[in-house]
Amino acid sequence: MGGFSDCSSKRVSAWQKKLSLAASSTEDLREWGLAGDLSDAELQELRENFDIRVPESFRQRILESEPLRRQVEPVRHELVFLPEELADPIGDEVHSPIKGLTHRYANRALIKLTHLCGVYCRFCFRRYKVSQEGNQLTSQEMRAVLSYLLDHREIREVILTGGDPLILPDAFLFKFLGDLAAIPHLRVVRFHTRIPSVLPERITSEFCRRLNDFPFCSWVVAHINSADELNQGVVASISRLVQSGIPVLSQSVLLQGVNTSFGQLQELFEQLVEHRVRPYYLHYPDLAQGTHHFRIPLEDALELYQSLRGQLSGICIPHFILDIPGGAGKISLPSAGLVRVGERTWKARSPLTGDWIQFSYPPQTGLL
Ligand SMILES: *Cc1c(COP(=O)(O)O)cnc(C)c1O
Ligand code: SF4
Repeated sequence: MGGFSDCSSKRVSAWQKKLSLAASSTEDLREWGLAGDLSDAELQELRENFDIRVPESFRQRILESEPLRRQVEPVRHELVFLPEELADPIGDEVHSPIKGLTHRYANRALIKLTHLCGVYCRFCFRRYKVSQEGNQLTSQEMRAVLSYLLDHREIREVILTGGDPLILPDAFLFKFLGDLAAIPHLRVVRFHTRIPSVLPERITSEFCRRLNDFPFCSWVVAHINSADELNQGVVASISRLVQSGIPVLSQSVLLQGVNTSFGQLQELFEQLVEHRVRPYYLHYPDLAQGTHHFRIPLEDALELYQSLRGQLSGICIPHFILDIPGGAGKISLPSAGLVRVGERTWKARSPLTGDWIQFSYPPQTGLL
């Protein structure tokens, strides 16, 4: 893992060593049984679009779990970019006043300190940027982010996302959090992370204690898509957060072959609640390039989501979210602000401007 050497201490912690044990080379992928019948050239092309990285902690588990394997295994379908698909599906760039910061909603801003992650989820909606080492913020760019936050007193919440903010070494991360702590109007810092699922040992009790030392309140939103992710280590990691008093929410993406049956969603959300995680968002997959095989038709997704109500406890039911393609904002479904206008075409009302935006999903290919 490069890119952080100037800020991290010489001592490499145990979790950082573990992070470097992931499979990403062609040889690793073949050895782990994750290359299917892909040629070396195809693997290389896949990697150029979006890097491949399967964490060591998944190695055994992907043999037993289709939902886990589907999330990390590179497949040929990814090489197909359909006309409806967009490089920047939710318009991060449109609302980015300076590098590394997206300010779409007045009172909260996204910050991407890094574009690297512990795993590269094949359905990632930021796959056009994520995994590229060159997108790491320099210290000068970080200072610009901090001064933007200082100048915008309407921002009371910062969402650290990426990439995965928790793959940053403590020395780097806590330095930045210390700088955030000096901005008096910032009251809440939210971490959007996949680390509890892929590298649970990174979340130590000491880490939680240090988070709680800041004047702002930290919330963790763990990205978890399948109950199969919740093994003992993952549950223990969540438990360290919760016991230290840090609220934990989850977000999931609705993914064909991973969680598109009623039973799979029920198991996921009920288990999360048993582990004191409140399911927060279930996302309909954004129109990222090379991800069509993960999407079920929106009308089917709505029906599936609505079937949860009445059968699951209310605290097990997340909001079902559609991020309007192009950057017009998120809406919570079902909504009077979403209207079907054609076989695959919909119109949604932007929560930001009130404008109706029309968009289409690719045809179902039946590839999977
Ligand atoms: C999703 C998102 C947020 C957070 O939205 P919440 O509904 O508060 O979870 C903030 N900023 C941007 C740019 C986003 O895309
Ligand atoms: S961890 Fe998040 S940002 Fe990283 S590849 Fe997965 S979905 Fe994308």
